Amino acid sequence: MKAEQMIPINVPIIGEEEIRLVLEVLKSGVLTSRAGSGSMVAKFEEEFAKFVGAKYAVAANSGTAALHMALLAAGIGPGDDVLVPSFTFVATAEAVVLAGARPIFVDIEPETYCIDPTKLEDALTEKTKAIIPVDLYGLPADLKPILDFAEEHDLTVIEDAAQAHGAEYNNRKVGSVSHMTCFSFYPSKNMTTGEGGMVTTNVEEYAEKLRAIRSHGEKGDTYYSVMVGHNYRMPEIPAAIGLAQLKKLPKFLQKRRENAKALTKGLEQLEPSLVRLPKEPRGRRHSWYLYTIRLPWAKAEERNRVIQRLRSEGIAATTYYQTPIHKMPPYKKYPSKNLKETEKAAQQVLSLPTHPALNKEQLNHIAKATKEAIKNISYPK
Ligand SMILES: *Cc1c(COP(=O)(O)O)cnc(C)c1O
Repeated sequence: MKAEQMIPINVPIIGEEEIRLVLEVLKSGVLTSRAGSGSMVAKFEEEFAKFVGAKYAVAANSGTAALHMALLAAGIGPGDDVLVPSFTFVATAEAVVLAGARPIFVDIEPETYCIDPTKLEDALTEKTKAIIPVDLYGLPADLKPILDFAEEHDLTVIEDAAQAHGAEYNNRKVGSVSHMTCFSFYPSKNMTTGEGGMVTTNVEEYAEKLRAIRSHGEKGDTYYSVMVGHNYRMPEIPAAIGLAQLKKLPKFLQKRRENAKALTKGLEQLEPSLVRLPKEPRGRRHSWYLYTIRLPWAKAEERNRVIQRLRSEGIAATTYYQTPIHKMPPYKKYPSKNLKETEKAAQQVLSLPTHPALNKEQLNHIAKATKEAIKNISYPK
């Protein structure tokens, strides 16, 4: 099966509105928001803050930059420890190392694949200053016990919601719940700007620091730095794309939800011993970035054969994440005790497309092919 015939795992959906706003920026000739020049970034920030229900939103040029600047704004640096899951995209732990701090890996909940709040205590050190829960696959982490634990131990909670625009925790959108929340607008995500990121917060002091850090530590006047920063500014063109995408996000999310429902309907006839379907625990509303299933009988090799079968059927099924971060060379040296559920999930999960561009026929095909692949490979070959 050629790549172009495959049903992609995720795909950006760009229309006339994005094109119109990008042309508007190009015709204006103002390509940056530095020192109050362009207005697209400011508008995008305002609309994004409104959407998540946060007081402040500070745009960045990637989700990774957003995480890095949130850690710096929280005052995290050399000598500090940060609790993170290992079962996530590498950027979560990478940002901690970039800030000069030490990631400590914490195990996940076996049902949701998000960081397990009951495992935080065991991982805590004297030097722990922050926690980064990740809303994996678009499902919010269990934020209430995490925030309670953080309060008890005076920690900052920096949520990684790179995959979870529009997800909700106890009826509040992620982005308004944690001390700071980081989003990504990479092309595969629920909404895109090409590359881009955002930090949202209700704390004015964080917002001010974030704005300084993203532009060389400048405050007020350009060419006057009060601290060492970075160039993490989002340009005007991506912000224009983001404004158009944000308007469509509720529709995208509704379609993702409908598609996930259709996949569940197609797959729930299989025994739970053959496949575990994604769940939405009470109080946590999924944004369905990915539809991730678990094969509880499988080792990595068997799971990979199911994926191969699906690929031969034209479905770009993929595992996120085959290698937990603590097993990657640059991260092996950091504390990683008792990650049993992380290592098991890395062997047994695979993700199916649930993106808004899927049609009924494709959804039926995905469900049917997945059922057949699982039945064929789980029983004596
Ligand atoms: C995509 C992603 C990031 C990084 O975002 P970029 O915009 O690609 O830098 C961070 N964390 C998670 C969980 C992600 O999925």
